[in-house]
Amino acid sequence: MGDLTWFRSGGNARFYLSPSSEEELIEATKWAFREEVPFHLMGLGANSLFPDDGYPGLILHMVRFRQRGEHYRSCTPSVVEVDAGINLENLVKKLNEAGLGGFEKFVGIPGTVGGSVWGNAGAQNSSLGDRVESVKILDSQGAVHWVKGDQITWRYRSSGLGNRIILAARFQVDPDQEPEELKSRSAGFLQYKKSVQPYDEKSTGCIFKNPGAGRSAGQLIDELNLKGLCEGGAQVSDLHGNFIVNTEQTATTADVLALVSKVQEKVYEEEGVRLEREVIVVGEGSE
Ligand SMILES: Cc1cc2nc3c(=O)[nH]c(=O)nc-3n(C[C@H](O)[C@H](O)[C@H](O)COP(=O)(O)OP(=O)(O)OC[C@H]3O[C@@H](n4cnc5c(N)ncnc54)[C@H](O)[C@@H]3O)c2cc1C
Repeated sequence: MGDLTWFRSGGNARFYLSPSSEEELIEATKWAFREEVPFHLMGLGANSLFPDDGYPGLILHMVRFRQRGEHYRSCTPSVVEVDAGINLENLVKKLNEAGLGGFEKFVGIPGTVGGSVWGNAGAQNSSLGDRVESVKILDSQGAVHWVKGDQITWRYRSSGLGNRIILAARFQVDPDQEPEELKSRSAGFLQYKKSVQPYDEKSTGCIFKNPGAGRSAGQLIDELNLKGLCEGGAQVSDLHGNFIVNTEQTATTADVLALVSKVQEKVYEEEGVRLEREVIVVGEGSE
């Protein structure tokens, strides 16, 4: 499974399915409940680490989950509906090309729409939740329904949706924008992102949540000279203190977690700040 996560670490899953339709997904979850097999939804694995000793349940890999070929369907001039398996980076590109604004800042966030809504991904002081009109959910009773965006408790990198499965989302967009203007804004954001983050390396993305008011996790790590700190094959990025990179592609998930503990201890000892991990480990309680 490691090959299917962004960071490239981890063992095997006991069962694996990449569903392409609601029917297939619903059937798979019914089977898992009936057989008492735990299951875990995975998108691009860009905010996830896979355990080295594997996962004893079913991985539902959502990267093929879409109704038809298109990236989005227009509901009204200012609302688009997007299936959970759509790649967020491709969506940004398609919306920009169509002159539908509001997503330019989300360029360069690797992930599926489902995983990104679940984690309320964002950049430049905007989060996906700000744009959600409603989310199509499969609940643990097997019922499918739409939840309005304003009924969801959006927090920093959290939707609070827990173990509910996201099938699709409807987003507010700003219609009638100039495509070249949107593309140029996205290009600017991406250029900046690449200059401050190890965008082209195998990385965990931001490993810690920012600890609220005051300095960011990256600043704290940087000021304590922890950049470059290693544990096995995992290293705190030289470019951005809040990223752990797998430079030689030999790092295990255990290496990352050991490095996370080391950084957390040092930051707490020196600054009294408890850094909370943002990246999830598959099987640690999200299903
Ligand atoms: C280089 C790099 C840069 C990044 N930059 C940013 C950034 O700027 N801003 C930011 O916010 N994040 C950033 N990230 C983190 C990551 O891109 C986001 O968290 C992204 O939204 C993860 O999406 P995913 O599909 O890969 O989720 P995954 O890692 O596959 O899953 C994350 C969580 O979502 C759940 N999930 C997945 N699909 C569904 C579904 N359909 N229904 C219900 N639950 C689901 C999973 O079970 C898991 O709990 C970055 C990561 C990297 C590697």
